[in-house]
Parts: sequence; C-alpha cells; structure tokens
Amino acid sequence: MKFALRDDDASFFTRPEQLDAVYHDVWDRVPVTLAVIPQAAGYRDKAVPPQYWDGKRVFLLDENPALVARLRDLLSEGRLTIAQHGFSHEDFADGPEFQAALDVADRVQRGRAHLERLFDRRINLFVPPHNALSKSGMAAVQAAGLNLLGSFIYFHPSRRPWDRRTPANWWRVLRYRAATGRHRSDRAWIYPHVLRYVNQAEFGCHSLIPGTTFDGLVAGFEEARRAGGHFCLATHYWEVDAAMKSVLVRLLDYAAAVPGMEFVSAERLFDPEP
Ligand SMILES: [Zn+2]
Repeated sequence: MKFALRDDDASFFTRPEQLDAVYHDVWDRVPVTLAVIPQAAGYRDKAVPPQYWDGKRVFLLDENPALVARLRDLLSEGRLTIAQHGFSHEDFADGPEFQAALDVADRVQRGRAHLERLFDRRINLFVPPHNALSKSGMAAVQAAGLNLLGSFIYFHPSRRPWDRRTPANWWRVLRYRAATGRHRSDRAWIYPHVLRYVNQAEFGCHSLIPGTTFDGLVAGFEEARRAGGHFCLATHYWEVDAAMKSVLVRLLDYAAAVPGMEFVSAERLFDPEP
C-alpha cells in the first residue's frame, strides 16, 4: 500500500518559512507533493495576503526568488515533488478556474511549461483548483496526458470526455460503491484505486482541513487498506495549525506501523501495479 501527501496553493504569495514550519519534520518521512500555482492571481482568498486582493495583475512564481530557490533545494533533496495547481487559481463569477475559464487548454499548457522551465523537470500531475473541473477542463488535462489528483473526481460518463476505458472505470466505481453500502447520493467518499483512462490516470485524496479528525482519516485509510488500494492526504500549508499538524503526525505514525507501507510522492501512486 502506498501513502502520499499533497499540499495545495504554493505560489508567489508563499514564504519558504511557511512550508518549513509545517513540514520540517514531515518531508523526511514522506515527500510532499506540492501543487503549485504558476501565475497566481491576486484576489480575496485566505491563501493571498490582503495587500494583493485588488486583483490588478498576476504574480509569476519567478517573482519570489527565495521560494523558487528553496523549492529547488527541496526537490534535489527528494523532500518535495511539484504538481501543477491550475494556472492562476482565480475564481470566476460562475465558478473555479477550471470550471469557468474558456481557455482551459491554454492554461494547462502555459502553466505546465512555466513550471517545467522553472524547475527543469517534467511535470506530470495536475490538481484542479477547488478540485473542480468542467468537462472541457478534464478534456484539456487528458489531452496533455497529465495524471489527475482530486478530492472528488467526476466518474459519471456524462460528466467527462469519453474514451474506451470510460465504461469499465464507471462500472468499477459502481461496484465499489455498492460493495461499501453507499448510495448514489453519497458524495463524500474516495474511491481508493487508480482509474486509468487512455491518456492519463486519476486518483482521489482525502482532505485534511480544520475540523478533520484523526479517527475520520483512519476510517478512510483502513477502508483503502481493506480494498487493497492506496491513500492520499491533501492539505493546505496556510491553514495547518497545531491541531491539524497533530492529526497529520498521528496519521503518519499510524500508517508507518502498517507492514509493507510505502511513503511515496503522489506521482508514484500512478506507477504500474506489479
Ligand atoms: Zn487551491
């Protein structure tokens, strides 16, 4: 069984000390897959300092050289991997970036190229802002061949572009839902296996947000373990306080005691199964 840790929203607005404060004693146990915003919009959000809320321009990651240097060091030390978290992460009047923007394919390509140039490595994982994707957003991610990490992924064939693996994947999800006694209206659950489509693959993460309990995460972890699946935990460095950090460390301790547990980058969740 594999265990991965994802952290969203690192951007121009992130100070390296914020990441150090949360992960200094974590990333030697499990590499942190940082979902990075390439060209962050300034807008009203808890992840954005108030002086940037006027939304006058976008802020390139390059404009924060201290952060870029720190991320490069952490990458070379194996403590970090980099995923693409949208392009600007802006919210439109009618929804999150990859649900509402009209130029999603362009945003995928430009964002990816930006990160690949800055960190001199291939980016192969995409995390949509707010875990939200329109059908065309999903098509853009698929066309780029980027694997997808969400918290709720749209499995239903009507919500996604069609390929020849779509029906079998939908059938697997339905069977799992039935086997775990869930109803079609139940939304808050995570399918614990990688779903492989023709051009990319998808996996869902459990969320660690304020109020998430250790017991709740253990229940999700144990369900994935019983199913022979994997586990991914997603959080935001900017809201991790002492209580959330304690839940994270307890969960790592719990998982570390499981025989055969592998702590991996989120990219490695998608490795071919033996
Ligand atoms: Zn985000």
